[in-house]
Amino acid sequence: MYIKQSIEQLAPYVPGIQPQMDGHVIKINANENPYPPSPQVQQLLSGFDFAQLRYYPDATSQRLRKLIAAHYQLSSDHLFCGNGSDEIISYLFQVCFEEQDTIATPYPTYTLYKTIADIHRVHTVYVPTRDDFTIDTQALAQTGAKGLFIANPNAQTGLLLSLTEIEELLKQYDGLVVIDEAYIEFAPATASACELVARYPNLVVLRTFSKSYSLCGIRVGYSLANPVLVHALDKCRDSYNVSHLSQLLAEAAFEDQAYLQSTVKKIVATRERVTAALTDLGFEVLPSEANFVLCKPVHGSAIDIYEFLKARHVYVRYFDSPRLSDKLRITIGTDAEMDVLLKYLHEFTGVKS
Ligand code: PMP
Repeated sequence: MYIKQSIEQLAPYVPGIQPQMDGHVIKINANENPYPPSPQVQQLLSGFDFAQLRYYPDATSQRLRKLIAAHYQLSSDHLFCGNGSDEIISYLFQVCFEEQDTIATPYPTYTLYKTIADIHRVHTVYVPTRDDFTIDTQALAQTGAKGLFIANPNAQTGLLLSLTEIEELLKQYDGLVVIDEAYIEFAPATASACELVARYPNLVVLRTFSKSYSLCGIRVGYSLANPVLVHALDKCRDSYNVSHLSQLLAEAAFEDQAYLQSTVKKIVATRERVTAALTDLGFEVLPSEANFVLCKPVHGSAIDIYEFLKARHVYVRYFDSPRLSDKLRITIGTDAEMDVLLKYLHEFTGVKS
């Protein structure tokens, strides 16, 4: 069996542990949202006419594109919808990079950028984040790479790059700039680069329904970009890349902005409480603007805590790679889930509550 060498050298994506969810499990290892999706989503599902499923979906997700574009005061030719934002990252490589081109991305960050680059035989230059994990946009621009991939807030750290820094970068760098805003709804409203799309044709903003809309399961993401790029993405798209049901459910969720805001507000409040509590327990915690926190115990080792929690059916994410050595990434759950987590951490550390 012949497998291309660029694929042979890769490993399949392995998510954090996916435990059987039986009511005792607290799964806070994949940055999923602890609250259910909007009640509008449930209403749509319960009234759904299953006979519709015999038709192919709208190939271009037109209604969803229009709905989202209107929200950002853009025309729908700036909008593209994907089977998760992951799929759009793949399409960007198909559209914008030749074999042996180079992209640059901070390190650490979302590992998928490099994986997809490898699949397309595109080189990845990792630009280390500073000691405090902030992103050095000057260094990224100076790589001379054909494109930059920046998760904002950054994956694994939760740190936010300011809109001013993003605009400064766009003024001096004319390659493709992908700002992946998978977690942006958990940051202040003024942080998003969406408003820059109309002014900078080399900017692509990626968004997802997975995190803030609590819809990981339907796999819908979207991008805002200039119409020439959107047209090119449409040429690469799988014929019907977003399922009919996913389009409808994403529309219902998007229309319920009030629900989105209310759950985001709860998660942000819980994040602040958990950050303070972890600090009191002797953890170093990065100031996250996302729905997770990256932390490390000042004394002792994170792997022991990971195992201690796992034995009690609390699943957090453990990292042990360069810059992320012996660290825990904890997704913000409900207040009740976080109370259980903190109770176990008090038990482990011996720190009295
Ligand atoms: N970007 C970042 C930074 C992420 O962490 C994730 C989720 N793992 C994604 C994109 C993918 O999101 P989606 O579920 O829309 O494919």
